[in-house]
Amino acid sequence: MPRKNLRNNYRVEITPRTTAFGIVVGDEKDACEKIVEQVRRHVDDVASVYVVSDDASVCEFCGRRWTEDDALYNGGCCDEDQKREDDRWEKMQRKTDSE
Ligand SMILES: [Zn+2]
Repeated sequence: MPRKNLRNNYRVEITPRTTAFGIVVGDEKDACEKIVEQVRRHVDDVASVYVVSDDASVCEFCGRRWTEDDALYNGGCCDEDQKREDDRWEKMQRKTDSE
């Protein structure tokens, strides 16, 4: 076959040291922007450097990554997340008791 595939478009991908549980998305963005500044200042032969990102689910109250399958409870990532889960349990308990 005349057509053949080859690997091209080589580039460097840098991941900041902020991917642990408990890190807020805004912290990741700040860390990446700092790395971009540092690369621009210190690294030769760079044609372009910029921050790229993906869509992700986060807790609306604290901004931490959504780590649970449950759509309402993120494992107690913050006081508000835990409080709402406790309230849901309490309501379910009251409903069960009144039946
Ligand atoms: Zn939270």
